[in-house]
Amino acid sequence: MVSFSQAHREPVEEVETTVWACTSDACNGWMREEFSFSKDPTCPLCQSEMKKETRVLPVIE
Ligand SMILES: [Zn+2]
Repeated sequence: MVSFSQAHREPVEEVETTVWACTSDACNGWMREEFSFSKDPTCPLCQSEMKKETRVLPVIE
């Protein structure tokens, strides 16, 4: 059974994207790597270290 959200009735294209994710368990901060101008960014919300990970995100035109 496919849920509504998995059915992708809206034609939203998604792609694997490299992001910086906050290392703090209490924080959900993250940013797209392409929008970060630092090689070693800190979280804009809590100033924790950030680590690279891959997420599937909608394509930005
Ligand atoms: Zn954070």
